[in-house]
Amino acid sequence: MRCAVIGAGMAGILAAIKLNEAGYRDFTVYEKASRLGGTWRENTYPGLSCDVPSHLYSYSFALTPDWSHRFSPGPEIQAYFERVAEEHGVVPRIRFGDAVAGCVFSDGKWHLTTASGHRDEVDVVIAATGVLHHPKYPDIDGLDTFDGAMFHSARWDHGAQLDGARVGIIGTGSTAVQIVSAIVDRVAKLSLFQRTAQWVMPQENPAYTYEERAAFREQPEKLAGLHQNLSDMFDIFANAVVDSESAEIKMIEQACLANLENNVHDPALRERLRPEYRAACKRLIISPDFYDAIQRPEAELVTEAIESIEPRGVRTKDGRLHELDVLVLATGFKADAFMRPMEVVGRNGMTLEQAWSPRPEAYLSISIPEFPNFFMLNGPNGPVGNFSLIEVAEIQFRYVMQLIERIRAGECREVCATRDALADFEHAREQAAQRTVWVTGCRSWYLDDLGVPAVWPWSFVRFLEQWKAADLRAYELA
Ligand code: NAP
Repeated sequence: MRCAVIGAGMAGILAAIKLNEAGYRDFTVYEKASRLGGTWRENTYPGLSCDVPSHLYSYSFALTPDWSHRFSPGPEIQAYFERVAEEHGVVPRIRFGDAVAGCVFSDGKWHLTTASGHRDEVDVVIAATGVLHHPKYPDIDGLDTFDGAMFHSARWDHGAQLDGARVGIIGTGSTAVQIVSAIVDRVAKLSLFQRTAQWVMPQENPAYTYEERAAFREQPEKLAGLHQNLSDMFDIFANAVVDSESAEIKMIEQACLANLENNVHDPALRERLRPEYRAACKRLIISPDFYDAIQRPEAELVTEAIESIEPRGVRTKDGRLHELDVLVLATGFKADAFMRPMEVVGRNGMTLEQAWSPRPEAYLSISIPEFPNFFMLNGPNGPVGNFSLIEVAEIQFRYVMQLIERIRAGECREVCATRDALADFEHAREQAAQRTVWVTGCRSWYLDDLGVPAVWPWSFVRFLEQWKAADLRAYELA
């Protein structure tokens, strides 16, 4: 039985390790870039870190005592994935620098074609292509006319001079906030163009001491205990956001409000930073120092809407030209692209574009009817907004393995979700989404074109239960 894993990011590395452990020897990991790491390879902006604590944002089977901080910096996370992949023998399995362009199911096999023209024929495809990786560029007049260095946050231009420069940042999501705190000391002037204010949860980011790290090294049970404690604490957040009336979400709101009231000193600035929607409706910003940074003399919060971009800077609707040397577009990602633009064609010539018209859907976010033996990790409508994605990928892969094992055991040749199972799941998901904080009145990348959150709307406990054992009634086994 031959498998293909598409993508050598966090989920693809995991799939390769687990396939290997289960005795699968015939598989290739396809990676479009020349390095593994996914989002941690692509994002190299100053201040990059993960808002999931590092001891939780680790594979459960590869905990490390060496994390430098509670929320360790991006390059350290990238180095972690490279090390784990190396130690588990994944690297020789990866075909680097060759994107899968097409994936067509015929005669019981998936036929893969890469950008270089290489062809492969496999029984099972695991698409581990990530969620937030197609940069979304803003539709602003004159975008291409800017004379200085301009780039998306996920395409950071390290040749651009920041020290002593006038830097503009469009956007106030998690990315922009991290960049602001990281560069405000270095620039002559920082203009942050805010379209919508954000709630900010203050979370300190202490370094682990030498002694703490030594203790983790000497007592692995301490490390495992920390991983479990963090997972339990994260569940509180995960459960809070799916119930907009929960006591926990109200505590989060109070903490964000107190952060704003106590730490922004100028009343006028405070009002401009005050969101008009509920905390955690958009992805909650975690930052210990954003408010400090935006109150620095070098920083300016620009709340006037952008009119256009000109060769010398950004012009706002009040007619003012904000002159800039560097312009960073921290404007987010196309969250509904997934493995597209890859051409995927399932049974009976059904294309992914047809299956995903008008919007992406998959049973439990892993399986699409008429796309047999094609499994996604962190696919559409999964828990991207409330759980640690690394934990999610591990749980999802364990589940997917149950289906793959049936093929290996010869119980069937083709497995995919039934249309009924998908319809029932989507119906229940849409209903449950109405209780979540994500629908309480804000714009966010969680919402699909109908305003329904494309996110798992239930608790973590329910997630664990549902993913423990595959309910075979939901699948067509041919
Ligand atoms: P984002 O949350 O989608 O934020 C994009 C920002 O750009 C928003 O403030 C948006 O304004 C603004 N924007 C978009 N188009 C605009 C336009 N035409 N004019 C003016 N403003 C515009 O993107 P992100 O910050 O890159 O974060 C995406 C996700 O990546 C996060 O939610 C998180 O899941 C993940 N991430 C996590 C971390 C972390 O671990 N801390 C760090 C970075 C990213 P509106 O709000 O008005 O739409």
